[in-house]
Amino acid sequence: MKELSVIVVVADGLGDRPVPSLGMKTPLELVDFSSVADVVSKSAVGLWDPIQPGIRPGSDTAHLALFGVNPLNNYPGRGPFEAIGAGATLKPGDLAFRGNFATVNSDLIVVDRRAGRKILEAKQLVEYLNGNIGEIDGVKVEIYHTTEHRVAVVFRGEDLSDAVSDTDPHTEGVRVLEAAPLASSESAARTARVVNAFTKRVHELLRDYLVNTRKSERDLPPANIVLLRGAGKMVRYPKLQERRELKIERSVAISATALVKGVCTLLGFEAVTPEGATGGVDSDLIAKARVAVDYYRRGYDLIYIHVKGTDSASHDGNPSAKIAVIEKLLKAVSYLVDRVDLEKTVIAVLGDHTTPVMVRDHTSDPVPVMIYAPGIMADGFTKLSEREARRGSLGRLRNTELFGILMDYSSRAEKFGA
Ligand code: ZN
Ligand code: ZN
Repeated sequence: MKELSVIVVVADGLGDRPVPSLGMKTPLELVDFSSVADVVSKSAVGLWDPIQPGIRPGSDTAHLALFGVNPLNNYPGRGPFEAIGAGATLKPGDLAFRGNFATVNSDLIVVDRRAGRKILEAKQLVEYLNGNIGEIDGVKVEIYHTTEHRVAVVFRGEDLSDAVSDTDPHTEGVRVLEAAPLASSESAARTARVVNAFTKRVHELLRDYLVNTRKSERDLPPANIVLLRGAGKMVRYPKLQERRELKIERSVAISATALVKGVCTLLGFEAVTPEGATGGVDSDLIAKARVAVDYYRRGYDLIYIHVKGTDSASHDGNPSAKIAVIEKLLKAVSYLVDRVDLEKTVIAVLGDHTTPVMVRDHTSDPVPVMIYAPGIMADGFTKLSEREARRGSLGRLRNTELFGILMDYSSRAEKFGA
């Protein structure tokens, strides 16, 4: 059997629920599918639960499952992935926390867990801390700003442990907690000491920082400490090209989103961001399709295109923006379909999870999926939506099953048994 190329196109947060202002239709149901109706009619459609029914996926866990790694057994917690989403490159063994800028009084009692939430100087504060913390007992510390008062903090050094408790008391009016070892190992004890030294050092640095002084003068709560929670130690993922049950040598992920590029890199993809791809609703999606065709012609086995605008529009609660991004995405799919050999290519179009515009956050609803492959038993729909997907022949797939099916249709999966 000759292996086929696989192209996977994900509209982030694609799935949705009926929207009252759309006459109880979903954004996807109102999308014009005429540019891709032919390839949809030759595809099988169905639903995919990225993790399992009832579990709300993050984009990180959904992408692990999409590419064949069950996140339920292989997830180090949000700390490391928050850091990756903020632009960190993590290695196995790195320890990462989620963190908050917060306000404490002189007795280290937490007055505001979010230091007023909108911290205009957050980027400056992070730069200042990164430039001044240095190493703590041989451990390198890196802070990454994510949004508002939120940061991710990475500790890099020998033999760190994630068996340490939070310094964030998760409530106000009490003292900042000392990190304590949660295991009897020397590495947990040392890690707790490093974390406590970090807290002390950050507080000293921020206390007198000019920006904060100014901020206090304006009667805003000063960001004068970083509270840590959810220690997680980066794990090592098997790269696609190392997985002996798969025949994949070269794969590329085309995305402008740091979290997605980070996850894909961990899994062995090359990650590229074409010029014009912004990660927002204004992203140039034809530019992504053009790069995809380029890698296709260079003989890459697995080509992944990620589009973030659908999720951004959903978090904003904006159904018309979501519809517009999906239509733009379909034009990019149509561009691809016109330029690949459909006798030698498997194409999947799906969401990584559902982000209903009425909920403005990720939910566990399964996402619609379509798979085109030469010789597949097609369902004959001319469009894809949450409603069509419920009647499709793929049924309801879960977790890594979808990846297995793509590997099988492209003749890249080993046989199980004799
Ligand atoms: Zn996502
Ligand atoms: Zn989202």
